[in-house]
Amino acid sequence: MNRLCVFCGSSTGRRPEHREAARRFGALMAERGMGLVFGAGHVGLMGVVADAVLGAGGEAIGVIPQALVDKELAHGGLTKLHVVDTMHQRKALMADLADGFVALPGGFGTADELFEILTWAQLGLHAKPIGLLNVAGFFDPLLAWVDHCVSEGFLRPEHREMLLVSADSEGLLEMLLRRKPTIQTPKWIDSQDR
Ligand code: AMP
Repeated sequence: MNRLCVFCGSSTGRRPEHREAARRFGALMAERGMGLVFGAGHVGLMGVVADAVLGAGGEAIGVIPQALVDKELAHGGLTKLHVVDTMHQRKALMADLADGFVALPGGFGTADELFEILTWAQLGLHAKPIGLLNVAGFFDPLLAWVDHCVSEGFLRPEHREMLLVSADSEGLLEMLLRRKPTIQTPKWIDSQDR
């Protein structure tokens, strides 16, 4: 795995654990020779991860729409900055550039990016590994909802299994590296499923 795309908050959150986990995760990526692909912001946990990757001698590639550059939200010291026109182009390019995806704590933007990439995997559009760094149980309510989707028959168990979860950065990176790229069972197997 050469490059990992990290989705995370444009805020740092209230708990110091979130900032510390983002810093640790970025440093570990650089130690393992994994480049960062991300939303290019200098703010929030995004900025913390990017600074940690760059500080440990790693590569950080940002993809940002012009509108956010105009608001001076782009990180100034990246290895490479791709400026695109729309949020849709940004997500597509981040997905193309990366070999896997990880979400760290964040809000709507993080959830949007995570669920879009899960949805694309569910539809068989890519077979790249997807992980969740569950810092201080931050994602427990989201995981409870995902399990609820399975028990209520809105999500197949094998699609739930696409989401690799660990509270520990090293453990999560190991899980991502071990995951074999497999195209998932297509969501629509027969008309009964619709
Ligand atoms: P949120 O979780 O709502 O803070 O949104 C964070 C995610 O959305 C990041 O992974 C970014 O790709 C994107 N994003 C949201 N706000 C910004 C920003 N100010 N600058 C750059 N990217 C952002």
